[in-house]
Amino acid sequence: MNPLRVVVWGENVHEHKNAKVSALYPRGMHAAIADGVRELLRGASVTTATLQEPEHGLTEERLAATDVLTWWGHMAHDQVSDKVVDRVQKRVLEGMGLIVLHSGHYSKIFKRLLGTTCSLTWREADERERLWVCNPGHPIARGLDRHFELPQEEMYGEPFAIPAPDEQVFISWFEGGEVFRSGCCWQRGNGKIFYFRPGHETYPTYHDKNVRRVIANAVEWAQPQGVWVDSCPNAKIPLEKLAPKG
Ligand code: ZN
Repeated sequence: MNPLRVVVWGENVHEHKNAKVSALYPRGMHAAIADGVRELLRGASVTTATLQEPEHGLTEERLAATDVLTWWGHMAHDQVSDKVVDRVQKRVLEGMGLIVLHSGHYSKIFKRLLGTTCSLTWREADERERLWVCNPGHPIARGLDRHFELPQEEMYGEPFAIPAPDEQVFISWFEGGEVFRSGCCWQRGNGKIFYFRPGHETYPTYHDKNVRRVIANAVEWAQPQGVWVDSCPNAKIPLEKLAPKG
């Protein structure tokens, strides 16, 4: 069987501006996310791409050879070229899986695919986050307990301006009282999309074993089930003989 081809995309900006972030993620957040996927999905081929690379590391050829793309961005969403966003959208519609992480809720690609503003309420106050599994039978929740906690995270709260998810896998509760739909699934065209909330850059979230488990499960869940190349064909010749008209 061909290995699952995963590309972990990272904006890779905070890591070079904030000493706290580079101390937590010396090789970049994308490297830590990729390590987690590699550790749990032994047979997968996992590579990384960043904003700074030509075409953000997401050429036509690279995307054509990608089964699942994960996306972390925050302060440089506007620097992502629309051409690359078009390309990623096309691949998702064909069947590529997309895992959008944390502040990726405001990325061009997430807003494009969901068609809403994707706004939310937020606060940075080192709060405890408890993620509740609301669908224990879902493949993305495999291997988890009823809930797990992150000792310190940024708070994201409702309202989260997304279309109603096709499936809800997690809901988060925060120390300050807010709740948030923190694990959401959609399908767009032939592609599966999963949004996973945790992952603020100043916390060691992508080293957490439960977070790594969720991302690896999501990558497996989102792998393409066949490919749909949209061509809008004109079926000039009908399958059955048409009755004479007029
Ligand atoms: Zn954040």
